[in-house]
Amino acid sequence: MKSGERTKRICPICGREYTAVPATSRIDNVTPICPECGARQGLESMGVKRKEQDEILEIINRYYDMKKA
Ligand SMILES: [Zn+2]
Repeated sequence: MKSGERTKRICPICGREYTAVPATSRIDNVTPICPECGARQGLESMGVKRKEQDEILEIINRYYDMKKA
């Protein structure tokens, strides 16, 4: 199995298509999910509130956009 392949996947949580390396769902430890939902689940497990999750993810997304540009 090759790593770093740009496979298109659909995130089962947010329904978006993504090509980034998937995160693994904390719910069953098997299901691949998009990095954003992976980060959200990670933050949730640390007790971060929904509003703060949104703020953190906004910063993460801005960072990814900068890398794309
Ligand atoms: Zn997602």
